[in-house]
Amino acid sequence: MSVEAKEIQHYPCASCGADLLFEPRDGFLTCPYCGHKEAIATTGRVEEQSYEQHLSIRPEQMTKLAVNALEVQCQSCGAKSIFTPPQVAGRCEFCGVQIVAQPKSADPIITPGGLLPFCVTQPQASSSLREWLSSRWFAPNDLKRFAQPEAIHGIYLPFWTYDTSTTTDYTGQRGEYYWVTETYYERDAQGNQVQRTRQVRHTQWYSAAGTVTGSFDDVLVPATTSLPPDRLAALEPWDLPELRSYDPAFLSGFKAQRYQVDLEQGFERMKEIIAPAIESAVRSDIGGDEQRIESLSTIYSENTFKHLLLPVYAGAYRYNAKVFQILVNGRTGEIQGERPYSFWKIALLVVSILIVVLIAVLVFGNR
Ligand SMILES: [Zn+2]
Ligand SMILES: [Zn+2]
Repeated sequence: MSVEAKEIQHYPCASCGADLLFEPRDGFLTCPYCGHKEAIATTGRVEEQSYEQHLSIRPEQMTKLAVNALEVQCQSCGAKSIFTPPQVAGRCEFCGVQIVAQPKSADPIITPGGLLPFCVTQPQASSSLREWLSSRWFAPNDLKRFAQPEAIHGIYLPFWTYDTSTTTDYTGQRGEYYWVTETYYERDAQGNQVQRTRQVRHTQWYSAAGTVTGSFDDVLVPATTSLPPDRLAALEPWDLPELRSYDPAFLSGFKAQRYQVDLEQGFERMKEIIAPAIESAVRSDIGGDEQRIESLSTIYSENTFKHLLLPVYAGAYRYNAKVFQILVNGRTGEIQGERPYSFWKIALLVVSILIVVLIAVLVFGNR
């Protein structure tokens, strides 16, 4: 963050003094009262940070998301969200409870390298959510609460991306097929025993050992645990080439979630994500018709990372003591959500089908 940015407490409108808010439609800071616009000075260059240098973190590698950023922790699910005034804590985006804790000045975090700004507006997200709900006939009427405009809020979710070069030593076995002609006996149609032959496949195993290298770029790892991994994965692909360098102005009118998976935990998760690719490289290096891997040992070098914020509209509500979460991708408007089925609506449908079948039996069964 530049020195000037640190000194900016608010983004007051130059013509009326109101707080400027980030406008997803054009990416400008915009006055909600008089329409005055100001550009956000960011670049498309997001620096990679050295992973090793951040493992023993120094205070200067940490910043507040904005100098006046506030942080509040949900008393129910523990998620921490960060926002700037005049934004208020409101409801928790992840579990739906009204947050009662007093916001405090936000703790510093590893500075985000970049973000994808929102380009879907809150009203657009709400209206596609209403459409999604109306196409779900089985949803209980309670779910229609999501149709209210204030049910979802724009929040940046924390992610890490890692680059790494891998060197993997392996030992294993290469299996090669060969065919053997076997003789066997069976009875023909007349019941006579006859001799026949067949080809049977066998595998000869040879020991194998070697080294494979790999290079991985921008492996995306969620740094939130407030949402299920499959739902987060369903939001992909993100248009990461459109990343902007971080500027606190993007937070104006939105929240950001503080990362719950730290840099090191994220790195371990990255290893799990790339493991299948390394294993497949080892298998193709072993060759043959089948492979057995006995040992694998990987060294990760030239490790870099970026801390990214990606935009979603999120909301949650409770139904029958279970929390249902809805996510709208803030770039594409795509909806990811789960919904309960209404017992009564389904029961009604089943009864109607039974009545139709019964009538059909009565009408056609008497012919
Ligand atoms: Zn204004
Ligand atoms: Zn919560």
